[in-house]
Amino acid sequence: MPETAIAQVFLGPERGFDRREIPIPKLGPGEVLVAISLASICGSDLHTLAGRREAPVPCVLGHEAVGHIAAMGAGRTDLSIGQRVTWSLADSCGHCPACVTYDLPQKCDALFKYGHAAIDDGSGLNGCYASHIVLRPGTAIFPVPARLPDAAVVPANCSLATMVNVLEAIPTNARSVLVQGAGLLGLHACALLRHRGVTEIFCRDADSGRQSAALKFGAIVGEPNQVDAVIEVVGDPSVVAQGIDLLRPGGTYALVGMVHPQSVLNLTGETIIKKCLRIVGVHNYAPRHLRDGLRFLKDTSDLFDFAGLVSPPMPLGELPAAIALANTRRWPRVSINPRQF
Ligand SMILES: [Zn+2]
Ligand SMILES: [Zn+2]
Repeated sequence: MPETAIAQVFLGPERGFDRREIPIPKLGPGEVLVAISLASICGSDLHTLAGRREAPVPCVLGHEAVGHIAAMGAGRTDLSIGQRVTWSLADSCGHCPACVTYDLPQKCDALFKYGHAAIDDGSGLNGCYASHIVLRPGTAIFPVPARLPDAAVVPANCSLATMVNVLEAIPTNARSVLVQGAGLLGLHACALLRHRGVTEIFCRDADSGRQSAALKFGAIVGEPNQVDAVIEVVGDPSVVAQGIDLLRPGGTYALVGMVHPQSVLNLTGETIIKKCLRIVGVHNYAPRHLRDGLRFLKDTSDLFDFAGLVSPPMPLGELPAAIALANTRRWPRVSINPRQF
């Protein structure tokens, strides 16, 4: 087991990053040390870096990653040293009503989210912009199928698992679906819908380049007249009017992207009632969604080029340049090699 990890510690939007060596602690029961092989920069991190979203500083950001098991605490018999894994982005208690009764472990009373925790919380190795991360005992850890490259898997524990959860909210008899937004969430949505057998998948994005990328992930060319379901992954409430308009009576609207307060909807109760609409909010996911997402990647690796959506890895030491590249939105994800500093 190595003695220290190297991390890019975020000090705040004004102060940026500080390279630090963090001692690797003795692992507690059930804890797992992972040597990160590839991480990626999520849109939510770009919000934090720009100061649009709060983070407790100093902290290690980053929650999307793939790595290899480097060490395990007592009582871990389900994994082996050297195994390639990814993991759920939250740690849950397994006992509270959200965990046990609501089937919403992502709303656990004692929820801990990797990449969003202060450095003095636990081991300090809480995020993925680092050589190592310490996973807590309530975190779901899954082996990565051998045929999948790291680049195809790296955002699975955020975007893909969330979209697997969203698809659970879309009725199985839906034949036509509009996906609003062609960022990584939207592309994952299109591919999952296609894999499920939905034939009419429409994807709309203000950026025409992004919108045409959706055609490679199952979306079709054409204008919908009416759809059975709409998935919002734009993050902008202005698209909701169009979605409501296109939904058939009894249709389902899944709201996913507007995870911020600037999301007041211009929508009457009358519209929802008279059209008999189902409006569902979906936030994050439960472990089974990540498990199913990995299976989906394995089953469709010949059909969809997910690895092509991720930039060639940039060294962790050049994280600010990688963030600048991510902000150009040239790539749905920019990836980071934590072993290069
Ligand atoms: Zn993410
Ligand atoms: Zn809980």
